[in-house]
Amino acid sequence: MARIVMKFGGTSMAGTERIRRVAGIVKRQQEAGHEVAVVVSAMSGETDRLVNFCREANALYDPAEYDVVVASGEQVTSGLLALTLQAMGAKARSWLGWQMPIRTDDAHAKARIESIDTDEILASMASGEIAVIPGFQGLTADNRITTLGRGGSDTSAVAVAAALKADRCDIYTDVDGVYTTDPRIVAKARKLKNVTYEEMLELASVGSKVLQTRSVSLAMKEKVRVQVLSSFIDEDAPAADTLPGTMIVSDEELEGLDMERQLITGIAADKNEAKVILTAVPDRPGAVATIFGPLAAANINVDMIIQNVGREDTDTDVTFTVPQADLPRAQAILEEASAVIGYQKLTTDPKVAKVSVVGVGMRSHAGVAATMFKSLADRGINIQAISTSEIKVSVLIDADEVELAVRLLHTAYGLDG
Ligand code: ADP
Ligand code: ASP
Ligand code: MG
Repeated sequence: MARIVMKFGGTSMAGTERIRRVAGIVKRQQEAGHEVAVVVSAMSGETDRLVNFCREANALYDPAEYDVVVASGEQVTSGLLALTLQAMGAKARSWLGWQMPIRTDDAHAKARIESIDTDEILASMASGEIAVIPGFQGLTADNRITTLGRGGSDTSAVAVAAALKADRCDIYTDVDGVYTTDPRIVAKARKLKNVTYEEMLELASVGSKVLQTRSVSLAMKEKVRVQVLSSFIDEDAPAADTLPGTMIVSDEELEGLDMERQLITGIAADKNEAKVILTAVPDRPGAVATIFGPLAAANINVDMIIQNVGREDTDTDVTFTVPQADLPRAQAILEEASAVIGYQKLTTDPKVAKVSVVGVGMRSHAGVAATMFKSLADRGINIQAISTSEIKVSVLIDADEVELAVRLLHTAYGLDG
């Protein structure tokens, strides 16, 4: 007998019919002899709808009240799944974030999980009851509802799996695994049998939304075995133990599993960045600190940064990217600090996209970046900024060229299926 956490995303939970399909998968997993906890998302589109209500009610909304509103989508689906399981003759109950409780810090709208009480839920599962847990939600020390940031149900699932010491955390979604790139954009994308935690972390953080970035770092830290697989399977499909999803594995495991790996594992694109250019910033010690200090204080994440070679030792241009959603705030902060920073001109461009290639093979092979630059150059795609890590190269390009760039690179690195 194993203990398994199963997570179902928004598309899988969208409506009575689909919830019935999910309940069938859950029930079969339990009938295979396992203890089962289920983490669910809101129906697809529901969280966006709720976020819009908040914006309409108050453009400068209080994040604590925003959390009260947006956490409700998951409350509905958890209750509906428990009801559906009961209708199928299974024992099931919902455990809302505040009932378990899942304790978080008080960073509303992007809270971090601190602890999960598991005594009651473990006793209930041991008695044969299926635990249905709404993802995305938690509770602060002073008993206010929080949410974990968009896509946060993945993180709820991994955190619950870690707390319950589950044997596996199965993430059921609308694709049947992690692909070499988004299969909805590149038809030739191939499914990966295995991907390492590190690669998945990089892929998620540069735009592969199949898993929330934080869920991957948590899984890596807590050594949770995570599998990504499709919930759109036949009624008579076997329980997940034998389903061909994508397994997230450690570096050592991968070596044993897949000797013939491609140099590049995957390609991701992110259209949610915006570019900021500060022209003629004084070229002296401390100048860039006056730019990035106030942005950090406002909790704005700066990603790619380029500082040009100084002109005649007097000034230089600084280019960087911020999340598009933070651009208005970043611009306001930089304008306010213009006298202190001493730049001549501030320009912004939201029409950019970041394309990244990721693979652990890069550690031992030269030329990955060169291939990327040449493939893009051959098709006249201009690179506006570059950043690298040990296993990743990212470039910033015009947003209109992103899909072409992903396809070109997918072919250039031999990933086409
Ligand atoms: P869920 O609602 O189940 O959480 P998401 O929409 O958050 O699902 O994530 C699944 C989607 O991620 C897929 O439909 C796919 O379009 C997208 N995606 C992006 N990159 C990848 C990738 N490399 N492999 C698989 N899916 C990807
Ligand atoms: N419902 C939330 C969202 O849409 C959380 C999730 O689905 O993971 O962001
Ligand atoms: Mg998701």
